[in-house]
Amino acid sequence: MFDKVLIANRGEIAVRVIRTCRELGIATVAVYSELDRDALHVRLADEAYALGGQTAAESYLNTEAILDALRRSGAQGVHPGYGFFSENAAFARAIAGAGAVFIGPPPEAIEIMGDKISSRLAAERAGVAGVPGRSEALGDASEVVAFGEEHGWPVAIKAAFGGGGRGMKVVASPADAADAMESAQREATAYFGRPEVYPEKYLEWPRHIEMQVFADGHGNALWIGERDCSYQRRHQKLVEESPAPDFPDEIRQQMGEASVRICHACAYEGAGTVEFLYEAGRFYFLEMNTRLQVEHPVTELVTGIDLVALQLRVASGEPIGFTQEDLVARRRGHSIECRVNAEDPAGGRFLPSPGRITTFRPPDGFGTRTDAGYESGDEVSQFYDNLVAKVVVWGEDRESARRRMLRALDETVVEGIATTIPAHKAILAHEDFVSASHSTRWVEERLDLSGVTAAVKAESGGEAGERRVLREVDAEVDGRRYRVKLWVPGPEAAPAVTPQAAPGGSPAAKRASSRGRHGSSGPAIGGDGKITVPMQGTIVKVLVAEGDSVEAGQTLCVLEAMKMENPVNADRAGVVKELRVKPGDALGAGDVVAVLE
Ligand code: ADP
Repeated sequence: MFDKVLIANRGEIAVRVIRTCRELGIATVAVYSELDRDALHVRLADEAYALGGQTAAESYLNTEAILDALRRSGAQGVHPGYGFFSENAAFARAIAGAGAVFIGPPPEAIEIMGDKISSRLAAERAGVAGVPGRSEALGDASEVVAFGEEHGWPVAIKAAFGGGGRGMKVVASPADAADAMESAQREATAYFGRPEVYPEKYLEWPRHIEMQVFADGHGNALWIGERDCSYQRRHQKLVEESPAPDFPDEIRQQMGEASVRICHACAYEGAGTVEFLYEAGRFYFLEMNTRLQVEHPVTELVTGIDLVALQLRVASGEPIGFTQEDLVARRRGHSIECRVNAEDPAGGRFLPSPGRITTFRPPDGFGTRTDAGYESGDEVSQFYDNLVAKVVVWGEDRESARRRMLRALDETVVEGIATTIPAHKAILAHEDFVSASHSTRWVEERLDLSGVTAAVKAESGGEAGERRVLREVDAEVDGRRYRVKLWVPGPEAAPAVTPQAAPGGSPAAKRASSRGRHGSSGPAIGGDGKITVPMQGTIVKVLVAEGDSVEAGQTLCVLEAMKMENPVNADRAGVVKELRVKPGDALGAGDVVAVLE
């Protein structure tokens, strides 16, 4: 077993790994960007090394800086978490080259599963069918039309090197094929640096069910259990549960065995997840993630297995230590996870909401676990993933887990930023959740979030240690006058800021933005014609020039915050008198991008 492990990650997953290391008596080494100097994972680790830089590319994706920290710390293993370098074969090789162990699969397995086309081929070799599709890149749009005629419409055009729910376009009919293909290729090149796209039949009401697998260096490969991750927005998961509801045991068994065959087909080692779409009693291979997943805790709670501990044991050469049969007796009850993201779900738009968390009180109690990367007073930066915490519950059956989650969400307090919690409450309370009549499109198409408002308590909401002063004021309640005492933020505290949301992101947001939006959910525009951004972020595109005439609702520039692009639109017609931004500019909430007249 390792004496010391470096965690090449940040946020909740770095904290998660540190905790298990501590239990196993392994010393921990954190690395951090300039913005994370005081982050929770740095505070918890035994040692920490600066990587420099702010953006992911400058810090957590800086191989040289991480290798330097590895050398200086003397750690024998590197845990990559998820995201960043976790599925990067070159990084895995660099770690091995530095004489340390990459706590993950061999680089060859990462490569086979590294893109969607090559992983489809590997699954086919293992006798596991993918979503009906083509396992080679598309040449031109006529091939999309031919595919649609053969397999039926709609067709999904997917980026071979895509991930994170990005790089997929849905084509409804032959007439849309050329445009969709071009835009899929453009997006694929912009986000993943590779233009290859391929077609798949677009399933209309599938569930996303994935299988946790584990393999060791002694030839053992097991399926640990499945997770239903169908509650999604923008093809990204929001709520996960295990076991999958309304999922026949024989299909679970078949899916498990198919996943194990895939592990053997790529000589897999360590923790992995094989993702499937499940529709009308059949499952189709989607992709394999060669790392720990965000949603791994639901599997831990129903099996009692610490998956990070198992990763560390297997990476240090030990065998898994239990059999497929042992797992039958281990699986117990039901677990649900809700991702608490810094996102404003108002109106179903799920807009980024970075900023300072003034108060964070996680839930507690029987069967309740919180994996958080932040505490009160910590800043959620626009430069990284917006996952703040995961609330995970266990119950003896699905209904008790559901009720426990609703109770836990009620108890959770996050102030200073908007979070997905109001959406989670709406999901868990919905009769379709109870009856498990969901699909991957349910959140965006059936869930009504029009009444949801993000309860953002502003900066002055109670930051630990802030100066407060006593004020006595008169108040009238039901016609009766009272003299009340209030302890309010002192004079030097920041003024209250209520973040405003820009249209963007989800289809609902696009519909809303094309109608032109007003008031608190659109870009702020004062009587002086100033257009401001509602959140901190970086300008990635400027679409107008000084002197241009613009219409109401027209996009002036695109602000990227937390890996999401948000159009900043004009709320009225006018002429661009002043343009104050260019691509690359980092802005804070309220900064002016343009002045209209
Ligand atoms: P990523 O790597 O970006 O996460 P995936 O291929 O894993 O992409 O798909 C993510 C989600 O996109 C799925 O859970 C599902 O909601 C949707 N999706 C992907 N492919 C299809 C398809 N062929 N039909 C319907 N939905 C799909």
